Amino acid sequence: MDIKGKKITILGLQKTGVALAEFLAKRGALITVSDRSDEKSLGDKASKIRNLGIDLETGGHSDSSFENRDYIILSPGVPHTLPQLEKARQMGVSVIGEVELASRFIDCPIIAITGTNGKSTATTLAGEMLKKSGFNVFVGGNLGTPLVSCLDLSEKPDFVVAEISSFQLDTCVSFRPKAAILLNITEDHLDRYKDMEGYADSKMLVFKNQNNDDFAILNAADSMTIDRMQRIHSSKYFFNEANHSDHSADFRSGKLVLKSGADNQITIDISRYRLKGIHNLENLAAAALATWLLGATSEGIQETVDSFAGLAHRVEFCGEVKGVSFYDDSKATNIDAALRAVEGFEQPLAIIMGGRDKGATFELMIGALKKHTVKAILIGEAAEKIGRAFKGSVDTVIADSMEDAVRKGFEAVRPTGGAVVLSPACASFDMFDNYGHRGKVFQESAAKIIMEAGGHGE
Ligand code: ADP
Repeated sequence: MDIKGKKITILGLQKTGVALAEFLAKRGALITVSDRSDEKSLGDKASKIRNLGIDLETGGHSDSSFENRDYIILSPGVPHTLPQLEKARQMGVSVIGEVELASRFIDCPIIAITGTNGKSTATTLAGEMLKKSGFNVFVGGNLGTPLVSCLDLSEKPDFVVAEISSFQLDTCVSFRPKAAILLNITEDHLDRYKDMEGYADSKMLVFKNQNNDDFAILNAADSMTIDRMQRIHSSKYFFNEANHSDHSADFRSGKLVLKSGADNQITIDISRYRLKGIHNLENLAAAALATWLLGATSEGIQETVDSFAGLAHRVEFCGEVKGVSFYDDSKATNIDAALRAVEGFEQPLAIIMGGRDKGATFELMIGALKKHTVKAILIGEAAEKIGRAFKGSVDTVIADSMEDAVRKGFEAVRPTGGAVVLSPACASFDMFDNYGHRGKVFQESAAKIIMEAGGHGE
């Protein structure tokens, strides 16, 4: 892809937009950056772009930013369905996402990790396994650092490990990872996709350009994936298989056995793995299989299993008082993630749910909640919808702030002991900046209540 002298519009000026602008400016592109936010809220990012001498449009996208361009590059948050983009495509403008652009310049193998849940955990695990095997690894994508950032590093990576969302896949054209993991496809983002079929089809795009020399790591227990398997042309490997074949990762024997062909296998001891739940074994199996196939050593994988402590805001323990423990699972922004959290507890539970609804079917949680949930404490815009869904099955109460919710949760499980878990099954943007902010407010509230009850926070 030739950039010098090309007219390029970058849509979106968050972290990715800034990285894109820096990358393209260095290579002599004629750039316009356009963002719908006003200049003031863009703050430092706007001044950074102006200091680079780049044309910046704020407060909305004018038609001229879409016309007469060679490329339009989208940041991950920008919908690829904007009507102006459709018009630009018809006029012959190439519209691609940041992942697609970066992948055209990356010349080492890429491991792409997608799925509804577990992406960040599996991506971090895979990165660690390769690093502990002695490789120089860039870990990024949806996880935090945009992929273009790896292109100007002084030391070139041996591998890029990339967390990829379905929105990023929607704006890929020729992206071809050497190994692609699809962890699972469960209900999410029905506010942005027409239906589950559309969402699942997006996820499958990760395999679109792979061929027989590449690897597809698939969840054999995920029917949405298995139903679409004939579309995959790469070498298929499975985790969660009932009768495990010789292209698989199996963790059901208390060990993790990775197999590639009848005579090639390794066994990893998983007795010291700290993450709770089958889903975290799935994440581990997928990451280990992909990295092993690309050269990670059994020592590197073993060291990762033994040392990985999990990521913040994913069923993160944050303290205990009077027999009540507090867990922050703010990253559970959809039903399946919240379900997995609930299934991981055996003691009485107060679950804090709600926030901005993404079109979720909350009824799907009733079966799991009925087992030992004392109370569901509901917050945010979705509170009433969840209350209606649970009526007659799960005891609910509405809270008017996070602190109120944590307090109500504590009171509910205090008589028996148990856990107060924030696992909202919704997005955070109605009350908070993002899931991290929501988790922080939960942790602060939990710390306050722990102190008041005479305990110590984490
Ligand atoms: P993602 O990056 O896909 O959002 P994370 O690793 O950040 O995934 O985890 C998001 C949420 O999903 C957390 O609540 C976590 O406990 C839960 N989770 C992690 N792995 C899985 C999985 N394989 N299946 C279902 N839920 C999962």
